[in-house]
Amino acid sequence: MPSFKCRDIGMDCNFETKAPNENDLLVKIASHAKEKHNMAPIPQDVMNKVKKAIKK
Ligand SMILES: [Zn+2]
Repeated sequence: MPSFKCRDIGMDCNFETKAPNENDLLVKIASHAKEKHNMAPIPQDVMNKVKKAIKK
């Protein structure tokens, strides 16, 4: 199951999440980024890091 940790992209944040597929995971990450990191939408450079940090 794909999973993601904010810490893996250098954020000082304990958020981690997983989802049955990468699309669902990106939705969860986007919602977290908006609420906790004031990123709406997530900037492209951060999104590139997010995608690299996703463990499948
Ligand atoms: Zn976070």
